[in-house]
Amino acid sequence: MRHKEAYEKVFRLLEEHHRWFDRVIPLIASENIVSPAVKEAMISDFGHRYAEGWPGERVYAGCRFIDEVELLCIDLMKELFHCRHADVRPTSGVAANLAIYTAFTKAGDVMLAQSIPSGGHISMGPDIGKTGAKIGGTAGAVARLKVEYLPFDEENFTVDADRAAKAIEEHEPKLVMLGASVFLFPAPVREISEAAHAVGAVVNYDAAHVAGLIGAGFFQDPLGEGADTVSMSTHKTLPGPQHGAIITNSEEHFEKIKKAVFPGVTSNHHLHNVAALAVALAEMLEFGREYCSQIIRNAKRLAEALCGEGFKVVGEKRGFTESHTILVDIWEHGNGAWAEKALEEAGIIVNRNLLPWDIRLGRSFREPGGIRLGVSEVTRLGMKESDMDEVARFIREVIIDKREPKEVFQRVSEFRKEFRNIHYCFESGRLAYEYINLRLQS
Ligand SMILES: *Cc1c(COP(=O)(O)O)cnc(C)c1O
Repeated sequence: MRHKEAYEKVFRLLEEHHRWFDRVIPLIASENIVSPAVKEAMISDFGHRYAEGWPGERVYAGCRFIDEVELLCIDLMKELFHCRHADVRPTSGVAANLAIYTAFTKAGDVMLAQSIPSGGHISMGPDIGKTGAKIGGTAGAVARLKVEYLPFDEENFTVDADRAAKAIEEHEPKLVMLGASVFLFPAPVREISEAAHAVGAVVNYDAAHVAGLIGAGFFQDPLGEGADTVSMSTHKTLPGPQHGAIITNSEEHFEKIKKAVFPGVTSNHHLHNVAALAVALAEMLEFGREYCSQIIRNAKRLAEALCGEGFKVVGEKRGFTESHTILVDIWEHGNGAWAEKALEEAGIIVNRNLLPWDIRLGRSFREPGGIRLGVSEVTRLGMKESDMDEVARFIREVIIDKREPKEVFQRVSEFRKEFRNIHYCFESGRLAYEYINLRLQS
């Protein structure tokens, strides 16, 4: 019966997780929560099927309805992002970036991207072994690219357009990767695309974090500003399943992307998530403007409130943030690892984050100087500006006042009782963290 016990235990843990998340304040910037409709699509039979290739040209049978759903998903992508081509098969944001590397580069080519301390993502990182770099990632380790960093303007918290143009001239990259995991302000896409195109480089904009905001019209329009292709995750500000996608307006680039995605970096492409993405896109087209305008207002308000509580919030000069994300320098109160743990005990879920100057000051990603907060999920739970003031007070009590986290947790879970439903979707009355039980109960 040992295996039956393990089996039972998995479900106990899943249910406990759901109950826990029903009581905490989820502020991880890369996360969100899906609507009941998206969840239903995710547990459909599509999750057991294969459909290699393009709709209508599959190398598997049984794809009649799968093809129709995927074509619908592609159409909804094109409508949300106002673009000519979309590939919805990458199984994640990293897989989408790998497809971009595969389509436009070969081993040994130079790519320019943001460094990780300045907000870049692990998928853009160099190979640790070869370069002696402190932090490595997919671009070097898998695609064998030589990664050079885009100069970063720490005060304005964005890529330095002038110095980046010079770096592009100097390094003559094959690919310039814009976009970041700490994406407070729009990137200088126009200036950088001009410089990149002058040396024949392709510009990809990684919209993993900001895809939802872009689709709803609340962040820059990267294709409109000159980027050639856009890769993304579909589960951060875009409240879909964990999946990826690539869009472009160029026929020529699109043909390369399609081949890179399959047979390059995928075999099955998680068809249940393609269906779930189609549902999420339909809901975004209907409710996205209202949802994303509240995200922006909540993020600004939370940043201001934290500043008012005595925190050093990054980007003050530019109004802290124009996205869902806030970066806080908490070094004077303790390191990011301590803060992450203390806040978790108080029922506030955030993650530690490197600040652009951390490595220079001898700090590491294990104990960095910052924490990153995102408001996508709490906004979906119905929180508004005045609730952000309350959230900022809870954070101050833990980080600055050093109150007992367990005591704060009592009040956090009391506060959360008002925010249990999902908003901005067709079935908005449902409990957000309800555990769906399909098994017979003994
Ligand atoms: C989250 C993220 C990704 C990749 O995400 P997946 O987990 O693979 O979907 C890629 N790029 C950036 C900038 C990200 O923040």
